[in-house]
Amino acid sequence: MGGGYLEPNTNFPKCQKCKSGDLVPLSDFGSQGAAIQYKAWVCTNPECGFNLKIRNGDVYIYEPINDGAHSVRNH
Ligand SMILES: [Zn+2]
Repeated sequence: MGGGYLEPNTNFPKCQKCKSGDLVPLSDFGSQGAAIQYKAWVCTNPECGFNLKIRNGDVYIYEPINDGAHSVRNH
């Protein structure tokens, strides 16, 4: 249980698209340290690339993720 770090394989929902990756939440912050008003989830499977954002009560799927929140894929 949480110590503030993201721990793989703990309590994250499975990706419903590829069924092998986990969906992990991204916390993103603006340039002034304010939390950005959406919650984004991305699949940890780089071959899947599924991502989902919840913003203002709407769900956005497969939106490009902004710079700085895009650390899942390592090229
Ligand atoms: Zn996936």
